[in-house]
Amino acid sequence: MKNEKYYDVIIIGGSYAGLSAAMALGRALRNVLIIDSGLPCNRQTPHSHNFITQDGEKPSEIAKKAKAQVLQYDTVKFHEGLAINGTKTNSGFIITTETGESFKAKKLLFATGVKDLMPDIEGFSECWGNSVIHCPYCHGYEVRNEKTGILANGDFAFHYAQLINNWTKDLTIFTNGKATLTQEQTGRIKKHNISIVEKEIDFFNHEHGKVRQLVFKDKSTFDLTVIYSRPAFEQHCKIPENLGCEITEQGHIKVDMLQKTNIDNVLACGDSTSMMRSVANAVATGSLAGAMINNDLTVEEFS
Ligand SMILES: Cc1cc2nc3c(=O)[nH]c(=O)nc-3n(C[C@H](O)[C@H](O)[C@H](O)COP(=O)(O)OP(=O)(O)OC[C@H]3O[C@@H](n4cnc5c(N)ncnc54)[C@H](O)[C@@H]3O)c2cc1C
Repeated sequence: MKNEKYYDVIIIGGSYAGLSAAMALGRALRNVLIIDSGLPCNRQTPHSHNFITQDGEKPSEIAKKAKAQVLQYDTVKFHEGLAINGTKTNSGFIITTETGESFKAKKLLFATGVKDLMPDIEGFSECWGNSVIHCPYCHGYEVRNEKTGILANGDFAFHYAQLINNWTKDLTIFTNGKATLTQEQTGRIKKHNISIVEKEIDFFNHEHGKVRQLVFKDKSTFDLTVIYSRPAFEQHCKIPENLGCEITEQGHIKVDMLQKTNIDNVLACGDSTSMMRSVANAVATGSLAGAMINNDLTVEEFS
């Protein structure tokens, strides 16, 4: 099915970053289409924290409220679906979806987030976002002083140890195999009474996503109630790469300070562009991207 409407902007990804951009653009009277497949990265977490006015709210409620407010601007439309292809044309871009629709726009904004890749440890994915957490600013306060593990190795394990030591003194690092920490890092970790366990993990014992125990391959166990971990990730959407957007070494879409990619008229915002993963950052970068797109459209129209 073809959709002949020519939008000013197509925003792919209608979570916090995309909706924030859409609000700026709707308020700037722009014709906007948001395409969203409904899979935000925080969907497993029961409560979202550290975003003022919404502290402790269910993540889906924040998005629901945002969507309702954004769709009050009648030039903004929302399409539920998965965008699978993007093509550059002489006058802009065509985006096609999994179900065969195609949409045209002058400009594209990717607010598509990232996909966390669950490690191959039984129980990990069930606990993810619940008792396995990625960020102390988002969830550390609620689990302060609890018996806590860090599932990481090398520089990252050291960084986490330094950081999480602020929220609890009952900390153990699990490297899940031989530690790759330097001697100096090991010395500093031990100085703070943090143990390093190198045993390989077999599985997590948990009750409905609440971790209770690590079970190692040698059948020994370790009781705890919270684990910090930052799994590997990949871009949720491959269209930016296929359009030629540069990807950083860390795996983010490369953008400048105005959220512009290296491809003309293609911008990106939110988690897809930044290691600072938070609702606040997604909303801030989305709002900036929306304003920048409108700014470019006003300049083009005023020539
Ligand atoms: C487990 C967990 C808990 C967290 N807890 C907190 C917290 O308490 N506080 C906090 O501030 N932050 C928290 N975060 C971080 C926060 O959730 C993210 O920073 C935020 O969701 C990023 O927003 P975003 O809009 O960039 O991406 P996302 O929210 O991930 O949304 C991306 C959207 O794009 C859509 N999409 C992707 N590809 C396509 C496509 N091809 N076509 C159509 N749609 C597409 C997806 O379906 C999704 O709806 C948490 C993250 C995780 C993983």
